Amino acid sequence: MEYRFLGKTGIRVSRLCFGTLVLGPLQANLTIAEGAKLLERAFALGVNFLDTADLYETYPYIKRAIRHLKKKPVIASKSYDYTRAGMKESLQRALTEMDIPYIDIFMLHEQESALTLKGHRDALEYLLEAKADGLVRAVGFSTHTIAAVRAALSMPEIDVVHPLINKRGIGIQDGTAAEMLAAIQQLHRQGVGIFAMKPLGGGHMIPESNEAFRFVLEQQCLDAIAVGMASVEEIEYNCALFAGQAVSPEMGERLRQKKRKLVVQYWCTGCGSCIDYCPQGALQLQNGRAVVDTDSCILCGYCGAHCPDFCLKIY
Ligand code: SF4
Ligand code: SF4
Repeated sequence: MEYRFLGKTGIRVSRLCFGTLVLGPLQANLTIAEGAKLLERAFALGVNFLDTADLYETYPYIKRAIRHLKKKPVIASKSYDYTRAGMKESLQRALTEMDIPYIDIFMLHEQESALTLKGHRDALEYLLEAKADGLVRAVGFSTHTIAAVRAALSMPEIDVVHPLINKRGIGIQDGTAAEMLAAIQQLHRQGVGIFAMKPLGGGHMIPESNEAFRFVLEQQCLDAIAVGMASVEEIEYNCALFAGQAVSPEMGERLRQKKRKLVVQYWCTGCGSCIDYCPQGALQLQNGRAVVDTDSCILCGYCGAHCPDFCLKIY
């Protein structure tokens, strides 16, 4: 496994970060024992970096997987809270539910612009105090927008940014992959740690996963890349790929052929933006949210790029 420092934080992480959302009730809904076992397999293969969030409900999996480890993995979490009190509660919940004395990285979840960052200032101020008190080692935010990455250029208090980037730019809300990459590179040159999300565009690029992974791995500005993994096979394949080892073409093909489906996430607002972009006419609105006709859906992935809230994912 390759390890890198996250910008100037002094935190050394495996380039492959385990995105834990996929384990929990919002996605694969594994038992705590099953999810913890997957994390343990990843640790055995050199992964030392986990991404979670207040929203994901995956703290119990992490608690179980790390309980006997002398050297704990690096853990990043995040919260949508915008008040001081709310963020304090979120941070405390993370520490309590994972049974850890401090957390390596705690972030504002999904910032859109300088304006939303301003709106979350109280929460960020609290995190900076928590950092001074030793409860957090690094603070930052996650984002799907180029505007927020650019806003961080004038925020020296931000240690880490967790941006969305993939070869096709799927899910970037305000521009292209090239524009996002340029903003990330600039931020990285300033010493901000960068760990990317959605290298496979939320599942839409699974058929071209080798090219998609090659694209992110070649970007030197990405200190680490978070990938959701829900099986031992996926973990072993991705660890080998990230370590630059030969990967079994058969295993890669099996993973690409896995039975997949398009899932409309629960936070769909029913805005309807995706409907007209489906070449198969497989999407429609019912009771205020998008529904997919799985018989017509060809899993082409086009719709995902047109959902402003990243609700359409292929698993
Ligand atoms: S994946 Fe393709 S076919 Fe399926 S709903 Fe989305 S756009 Fe339509
Ligand atoms: S674009 Fe996204 S939020 Fe809007 S209806 Fe489609 S899935 Fe729902």
